[in-house]
Amino acid sequence: MDAAEFRRRGKEMVDYVADYLENIEKRQVYPDVEPGYLRSLIPEEAPEEAESYEDVVKDIERVIMPGAASPACTELETVMLDWLGKMLKLPEDFLAGTEGRGGGVIQGTASEATLIALLAARSKIVKLIQADHPDRSETDIISKLVAYSSDQAHSSVERAGLIGGVRMKKMPTDSKFSVRGAALQKVLEEDRAAGLIPFFFCATLGTTPSCAFDCITELGPICNAEKIWMHIDAAYAGSAFICPEFRPLLNGVEFADSFNFNPHKWLLVNFDCSAMWVKKRSDIIGAFKMEPLYLKHDHQESGNQSHWQIPLGRRFRSLKMWFVFRMYGLKGLQAYIRKHVGLAKEFETLVRADQRFEISADVVLGLVCFRFKGSNELNETLLKRINRARKIHLVPCQLAGKFVLRFAVCARTTESRHVQEAWSHISHLASELLQELPH
Ligand SMILES: *Cc1c(COP(=O)(O)O)cnc(C)c1O
Repeated sequence: MDAAEFRRRGKEMVDYVADYLENIEKRQVYPDVEPGYLRSLIPEEAPEEAESYEDVVKDIERVIMPGAASPACTELETVMLDWLGKMLKLPEDFLAGTEGRGGGVIQGTASEATLIALLAARSKIVKLIQADHPDRSETDIISKLVAYSSDQAHSSVERAGLIGGVRMKKMPTDSKFSVRGAALQKVLEEDRAAGLIPFFFCATLGTTPSCAFDCITELGPICNAEKIWMHIDAAYAGSAFICPEFRPLLNGVEFADSFNFNPHKWLLVNFDCSAMWVKKRSDIIGAFKMEPLYLKHDHQESGNQSHWQIPLGRRFRSLKMWFVFRMYGLKGLQAYIRKHVGLAKEFETLVRADQRFEISADVVLGLVCFRFKGSNELNETLLKRINRARKIHLVPCQLAGKFVLRFAVCARTTESRHVQEAWSHISHLASELLQELPH
């Protein structure tokens, strides 16, 4: 949709809302649809090809309005998470379908998803242990719990441990910045011997510093055997798994208890929209369900995502997924991901062709980690100059003790010419810097 159409559609939407408000007294106060009414009104999967804006808007009156805010909000969300789960080829266990035990929910951020998973895991392990040892207090058990993540994991994972009141240990990574099975096995043995209770592992697919992937095909079976909840944080990289060529990066998800990524990062859905799936809804609901009288109603069993999150109230965030999935179609979304990965590879080629620079981590998706072959100090100076010029903006990271520059392709409108311009700008600033050094 170009700017001209966006202006026109926006004005039409304001009219729609104004008409609704003007005629609101003609509408029923309470919907008379049955639970599950919505699923049968829309396809079971996202369309392959793009649909028109008119097609989507027409469906608002047909699909959404009869169910008002609820149940339409709850039901569209469940079905959209099934659509998205199918795009990623998630195992059947994670889908809600009509009678599945799993399912998806939209959280605000990946940070919340990790926290929810950790709290659900904490509640589950306490119940499990108390089933065998009714005399052990919750406080005593919680004081022995230990959770794990990669030393490359996002800061939100460490924070989840802080809020959840449990130890969080950072696992060392291999030369590709991935956590491997042997590393986890070793620390589990040590911690069990010390009387601790391992209960949660947060794997990262697509780490923030270098887009590295923890080896979940090795880690998953260990977690399953040791009754450790495995959560997967794929906040950034998850969007790429809709492309068959990147789907192997998600192999091992079948061992996970919960999985999360942010369509608001790389799948064209506006902030906020963080998609989270669990294999067993009952694990989450078991941890958080509250049922005061003012929340009791006739259809309690039909699903209520308020039990899956910290707030009670919820926004109608699945509407924007519905619009994006239909207006791009699966093919359009795949093309978008592929374009960004192609642009990152283009930048990688430019860096590799310049003998003064090196690539610091495998370029798998839209992120290129690179640096001057030289001291950290030199790289820090180069970054300062790049950012001070304000033409492009780079965020650095530290990899194996080295100061590294990160080039991330993430804007909807990025084209090859932007990448070429960015590189010639960087290379020019690099030459200036090198000329100033004593020879
Ligand atoms: C961006 C990112 C996060 C944080 O995402 P929020 O949705 O802002 O909480 C967490 N983990 C990884 C791997 C990320 O890339």
